[in-house]
Amino acid sequence: MTDIKRRKFVTLMGATATVVPVAALVASLPSHAADMVDPESAQAKALQYVAETADAAVHCSNCALYGGAEGAESGGCPLFPGAEVAANGWCSAYVPKG
Ligand code: SF4
Repeated sequence: MTDIKRRKFVTLMGATATVVPVAALVASLPSHAADMVDPESAQAKALQYVAETADAAVHCSNCALYGGAEGAESGGCPLFPGAEVAANGWCSAYVPKG
């Protein structure tokens, strides 16, 4: 093996040795699942948040503040930063989408 071929081989093996463990680490990470709003939290109680509204016509997924994707089971709401509200949830700050 010439010096150039050996150098390429060593470089390639070094890169492979670095990439494989990183790929394995990324693959082993749990998928990100956002925390859901705890209806028992002080903020939720103050806003009378419920994860399942009794009124099928008025719920988070048709609230102007809801940030979830169409059809998603949950999404963000600026009133509950760092957690997601249920698409079928509701709170007293509900604003119908206009
Ligand atoms: S404001 Fe209330 S009803 Fe609207 S998305 Fe947020 S939690 Fe749901």
